[in-house]
Amino acid sequence: MHIVIVGGGVIGLATAWRALAQGLAVTVVDPEPASRASYASAGMLPPANEQLYDDEPLRRLYLASRDRYPSFVAELEEVSGRSTGHRRDGVLDVALDTVAVADLDRAHRFHKAHGIRTEALTAEECRAYEPRFAPSVRGGLLAPDDGAVDPRRLTAALLAAIERLGGTLVTDRVTDVLIEGRATGVRLAGGGTVTGDRTVLAAGCWTHLLGGLPPGVVPQIRPVKGQILRLRSDGPFLHRTTRGLVGGSAVYLVPRADGELVVGATYEELGYDTTVTAGGLAELLGKARAVLPEVTGLAFAEVSAALRPGSPDDRPLIGATSVPDLLLATGHFRIGVQLCAVTADALAAVLSGGELPEAARPFSPVRGDGGGAG
Ligand code: FAD
Repeated sequence: MHIVIVGGGVIGLATAWRALAQGLAVTVVDPEPASRASYASAGMLPPANEQLYDDEPLRRLYLASRDRYPSFVAELEEVSGRSTGHRRDGVLDVALDTVAVADLDRAHRFHKAHGIRTEALTAEECRAYEPRFAPSVRGGLLAPDDGAVDPRRLTAALLAAIERLGGTLVTDRVTDVLIEGRATGVRLAGGGTVTGDRTVLAAGCWTHLLGGLPPGVVPQIRPVKGQILRLRSDGPFLHRTTRGLVGGSAVYLVPRADGELVVGATYEELGYDTTVTAGGLAELLGKARAVLPEVTGLAFAEVSAALRPGSPDDRPLIGATSVPDLLLATGHFRIGVQLCAVTADALAAVLSGGELPEAARPFSPVRGDGGGAG
């Protein structure tokens, strides 16, 4: 059984690794693997957020991935011999105005009701955790079981694991999906084809643009731009991943062990534009500074912009389409790094002849309730 995977972001690579681990043969096709949303991403693995409050199936999927993450990265680190930068030392949300205090209170009640461990903190307790917090921090919520991963290390580890397990990487662009009653592989921009028994489309917000697809099989995946900053200090500037809630929106601050501090991110719907703007930078720095005034003393390392893949209903598309042997793994929007573990397991189960696991079933591409496919 040979699987062709179009797209080598975190979703395509994780799927490739899990399929190889099931004993399948895999070829990943991507002109520049791990270069797009997955490269820009902060890699925060946060507690259930506002997107998940009212969407029970998505919350279940999220919780399944969250529970799976530690064993997923442990196995990956062992197979690849590389660190993923995974840390499960908590995510701390802090409120900087009264609206945010009320939001955290609501979140706390929600977490309690759904068995997600979080602890309400006073302003003083927040500052005891992070003495650098601004005096305007009014209170917080600590989710001790959450954390972060470094997506650049994660995708490097996935690429190493794929190589070690005998997977093939073709660094070319797919122009068309080959469909002759069923999916039989892909055509490459550089000439030639890659054929396979099953084809998985995981090309992020470019998935629906692939040629050869019958109308309606892949819904439009809209690009949602995110600008994100990377700052640097000599050692860790913060103890743990922090989200600052201010002015009705959030800024997240993700510290890495090597002194990097990731500050993200904007949400902009501007098509495929990835321009880094003065306004985007000002927004991120302004919010970061509101939480951590000393952030302005850090060295500037990098700014980037990338495109989150958003499906019509903002929920992922995981599993078989109405075209035989054609599967989707896309539409993970703002939590694709978080959901890569459960997505990869679900795809690997289907690719090896099994059923879509229960938690992933509501995200079948033929759900017809806004996914739009089928
Ligand atoms: P991508 O990473 O975009 O990969 C798609 C791949 O398809 C690319 O490598 C591309 O080269 C390839 N491709 C495209 N067209 C073709 C073609 N024709 N042929 C072959 N290959 C093709 N998620 C979290 O869980 N936590 C976070 O903290 C977080 N922060 C984020 C911050 C920012 C600024 C952004 C932009 C996103 C963030 N996300 C986060 C979301 C997360 O990054 C995405 O959901 C995830 O990376 C999507 O992965 P993907 O593999 O589907 O897409």
